[in-house]
Amino acid sequence: MDVTKLFGTNVFNDEVMRKWLPKDTYKALKKTIDNELHLPPEVADVVANAMKDWAIEKGATHYTHWFQPLTGSTAEKHDSFLSPTAQGGVAMEFSGKQLVKGEPDASSFPSGGLRATFEARGYTAWDCTSPAFLKEDAAGDVTLCIPTAFCSYTSEALDKKTPLLRSMSAVSQQSLRVLRVLGNKTVKKVTANIGAEQEYFLVDKKFFEKRLDLIVAGRTLFGAPAPKGQEMEDHYFGQIKDRVADFMKDLDKELWKLGIAATTKHNEVAPSQFEMAPIFTTANIAADHNQLVMETLQKVAIRRGLVCLLHEKPYARVNGSGKHTNWSLSTSEGANLLEPGKTPHDNAQFLLFICALISAVDRHADIIRRSATNSGNDLRLGGHEAPPAIISIFMGEELTEILEAITQGKKAKSKAFTTLKVGVDTLPALPKDNADRNRTSPFAFTGNKFEFRMVPSSGSISRPCIVLNTIVAEALDDIASRLEKSNNVNKETASIIKDTMKEHGRIIFNGNNYSDEWEKEAEKRGLPNIDSTVKALKSFPGKKSIGLFQKYKVLSKGEVLARYEIYLGQYSKQINIEANAALDMVKSLYIPAVIHYTKELAEGIETLEAVNASADVQRDLLSRISTHLESAYRNAGKLESERESALKITDSLKCSEMFRDKVHVTMTDLREDIDMLETLIPRKLWPVPTYADLLFKL
Ligand code: ADP
Ligand code: MG
Repeated sequence: MDVTKLFGTNVFNDEVMRKWLPKDTYKALKKTIDNELHLPPEVADVVANAMKDWAIEKGATHYTHWFQPLTGSTAEKHDSFLSPTAQGGVAMEFSGKQLVKGEPDASSFPSGGLRATFEARGYTAWDCTSPAFLKEDAAGDVTLCIPTAFCSYTSEALDKKTPLLRSMSAVSQQSLRVLRVLGNKTVKKVTANIGAEQEYFLVDKKFFEKRLDLIVAGRTLFGAPAPKGQEMEDHYFGQIKDRVADFMKDLDKELWKLGIAATTKHNEVAPSQFEMAPIFTTANIAADHNQLVMETLQKVAIRRGLVCLLHEKPYARVNGSGKHTNWSLSTSEGANLLEPGKTPHDNAQFLLFICALISAVDRHADIIRRSATNSGNDLRLGGHEAPPAIISIFMGEELTEILEAITQGKKAKSKAFTTLKVGVDTLPALPKDNADRNRTSPFAFTGNKFEFRMVPSSGSISRPCIVLNTIVAEALDDIASRLEKSNNVNKETASIIKDTMKEHGRIIFNGNNYSDEWEKEAEKRGLPNIDSTVKALKSFPGKKSIGLFQKYKVLSKGEVLARYEIYLGQYSKQINIEANAALDMVKSLYIPAVIHYTKELAEGIETLEAVNASADVQRDLLSRISTHLESAYRNAGKLESERESALKITDSLKCSEMFRDKVHVTMTDLREDIDMLETLIPRKLWPVPTYADLLFKL
């Protein structure tokens, strides 16, 4: 396989545009893309036509405006290029108007009250900064997909792309102001970049299909632990099994065709858990790509008799999945603004951007935390497998020392070019990173980028990226204003660093974030510890949150409030689905199986006693089983009534609190009973595949 030939074959990328577009159209389109301008209609017509011809040559019959509603997944409605001719035949047509704007019925997408149901109109608008691509389905159908933003009749964002693009503009504008005062006149634009490391589980389809919980809720609601978990630490970076290697190869191929630079793949910590990472790219393209990665993972898995689980915690007692989101800013000239260079203490520009991050993250720890929430992540964060629910920044020893030295007015020095001797002569001396890795920090500076490690594996990376871009835009705005007013930029830079460390230095923590001491220390420092989705979402309607997004024109007040309603609703709905699935499994599978066995035991006892044999074991077993069976039966009844009461609550916040504090808690109690029963019932009578089947039989 020649990867260079395969890469991007299904993308209407720069190379394809050069080939298929007349020169002046290409230039006009490039100008639109680079400067975020509106595309003149006559240019759109030419682009549409070329796109269609290219797509048809590759076998496409349909096109779709591909968008990201607030459901968390993507949406598409396919239209064919067919258009009737006067002669009664058909022609393949695609106009500029069709390319630029679509009008899907928006009534079935979440709007959080932004759109009355009678006003069902929604609009999709072409995002020409993310290239169009072709999707092939198993039947061989090819569809031209046009990345679009999705908004209401009144132009309010009903999606994740619109605010992401707005936040990218905001952070670019404010970065430019800082660069300009520092004397950089050439940079035209600053871009936020993302590299998202996607974790996932694979499970054999034949087992998956027998688990209603996995099918409808994406996670196991029951399951006693397998005899083995992850304690041998033998899966992480372990040898990749043939079946999985085949899957990964197929996955890479599909992603490369879509122009997604999938590069890293390895076994993760938990059994049957894996990770893939592409090379980072512009944030909105990375967000589109990550949606495609999640879709392709699932598609390729099914082809191979596997199912890919993207849930944050498919299995209890082994690690769950996250999506480390690496973020940085770069200039139109290609310079990384978070690159310390050889002597970071000298690098005013670098230190100012770092200060922007420190103050942004400290000021808005609550909002960042909120951007990484969903019901699945509640089961993972703080469990010593993922960062705790407290936001802090790992800065590394050297950088922290430099910042502190400047704060104290001392001369700062970088430990330039220390090398790390690995102790084996045949190995070369490695250049020492300016910080060791800290795997426990939720937000770590990793040399020339920040790695946000709290992001849920199934979520869109747009949410955290929108927040990062916006809060950093605000911090840069403050820094730029101070520098612009000052007549001594150097002196002002030093005092900005000093003030930042004084006011926001508490957010830096280089130690072990999993330790109990940190939890206590963080409390002393006044850092918020937000341990659930519902608690985190509460900050949405606050003044600080609305003001921030309004000021940088990322989200209007209405759009912020809509998101609040939607995310609360999603949480409640997810727990409700889980409760439904749990009740279904308990009533139709577990209880009948257990009753069947108790009957068998009772009959056995009777038979044994008839011949005066001892039935002590059977009696003891029966009594233990009956205890758990009764408890399960009681908890199922309780779950049912709590679920019903929760559903009756009309206030979204109170409803989600009831789902968290009652329904979810009872569901966990119910699980304990069933998991105990699993250990007491003969394997052949147990009605669903066990953890050993799900985790160890790939
Ligand atoms: P690790 O697991 O060691 O953190 P990986 O190689 O799995 O590293 O993933 C690192 C991710 O960070 C990749 O997607 C990579 O492209 C991305 N990345 C590297 N440099 C930057 C940068 N400047 N900005 C954003 N992302 C970056
Ligand atoms: Mg990684």
